[in-house]
Amino acid sequence: MEKLSAKEFDQNYNAVMEKFNSALESVGKTSNDVILLAATKTVDVDTINYAISKGITHVGENKVQELLSKHNFLNPVNEHFIGHLQTNKVKDVIDKVSLIQSVDSIKLAREISKQAQKRGIVMDILLEVNIGKEESKWGFLPNDIFSAVKEISTFSNLRICGLMTIPPICEDTEAQSKFFREMYNLYVDIREQKIDNTNISILSMGMSDDFDLAIKEGANLVRVGTALFGKRNYL
Ligand SMILES: *Cc1c(COP(=O)(O)O)cnc(C)c1O
Repeated sequence: MEKLSAKEFDQNYNAVMEKFNSALESVGKTSNDVILLAATKTVDVDTINYAISKGITHVGENKVQELLSKHNFLNPVNEHFIGHLQTNKVKDVIDKVSLIQSVDSIKLAREISKQAQKRGIVMDILLEVNIGKEESKWGFLPNDIFSAVKEISTFSNLRICGLMTIPPICEDTEAQSKFFREMYNLYVDIREQKIDNTNISILSMGMSDDFDLAIKEGANLVRVGTALFGKRNYL
């Protein structure tokens, strides 16, 4: 990727913050209530550190190799893992991130708990929901999420903190909002069950094109890449 100039980042950041703040205002929330996470795939370390200096407090990577290559060079920041995680890579990321957002199978949860136990830690996780029931996407189907939460909540070294989703891309706002609303309803239903060992407090949804909509439908963690860093060149 071509390096972003400081001026370009500043412009992007200001535009994102304006949209973020007006979405917060429309639902009577403040920036204490909703986390703006910078999705940093393909973004170089210098640019990420610049974003941190401007006020970004949370970053997320979706590939293990990329996370490992940047991890040691980042200034202090909360790192999340937000992509599909293979069970054999769990040991590589578990001591580097504060939250794994993308737990999409019982098998993966079991491995995270096992690796966490080895290190004497409790790992915070979100369960990913395939809210559009798309063939191409990872995550638990909406019908399976309750039983998944119940089973995974019994694993010793995990704490389920909420749900994450990447909804289908929709043509119109109303269709997009419907998926966000379905997620919010699942989130509230699970939270109200007060299952032992869980701390259901995070609903992670909304990206560059729709994070304002997601906030209006109850998201309290949004993941923004392109709107901050510009279009990426995928090799
Ligand atoms: C890349 C990515 C994002 C950010 O997407 P943009 O459309 O670039 O804002 C959010 N979540 C996940 C899981 C991603 O991989």
